[in-house]
Amino acid sequence: MMRFYKKCLCCEKELVGRTDKKFCDPQCKSTYQYRKSKEKPERFYNKVDNKLKLNRKIMKEYNKGGKVTVRANILTQEGFDPNFFTHYWKNKNGDVYFFVYEFGFLKKEEHNIEKYILIKWQPYMEKAMTNIKSS
Ligand SMILES: [Zn+2]
Repeated sequence: MMRFYKKCLCCEKELVGRTDKKFCDPQCKSTYQYRKSKEKPERFYNKVDNKLKLNRKIMKEYNKGGKVTVRANILTQEGFDPNFFTHYWKNKNGDVYFFVYEFGFLKKEEHNIEKYILIKWQPYMEKAMTNIKSS
């Protein structure tokens, strides 16, 4: 599929000649690409933000009791992505829970089934988190 542009994407000047041209000259092209590259970080942040929001929504939905165990594939089907979290907390046993705002998760394997233990943020965890940072 070929896309046709009638105006320069950079300066919006009417384009003449080849109908598949996007810019009037190389300078407009580089200006446009520079502008686009500056927009990219924002898109990245939006993507991360959306992932975090979805993770939080899913955990909120499944963690009604404060601490529950859910099969990993159930959360994955919902769109849960464990690579996106806001902070972590290590308990006394050395288990590291990853948190998305006030909801935490820990991946566990029981009888060859991957599960997530979901917990909620508690005020006492704040102190434990400080300990991790300072050590
Ligand atoms: Zn132009």
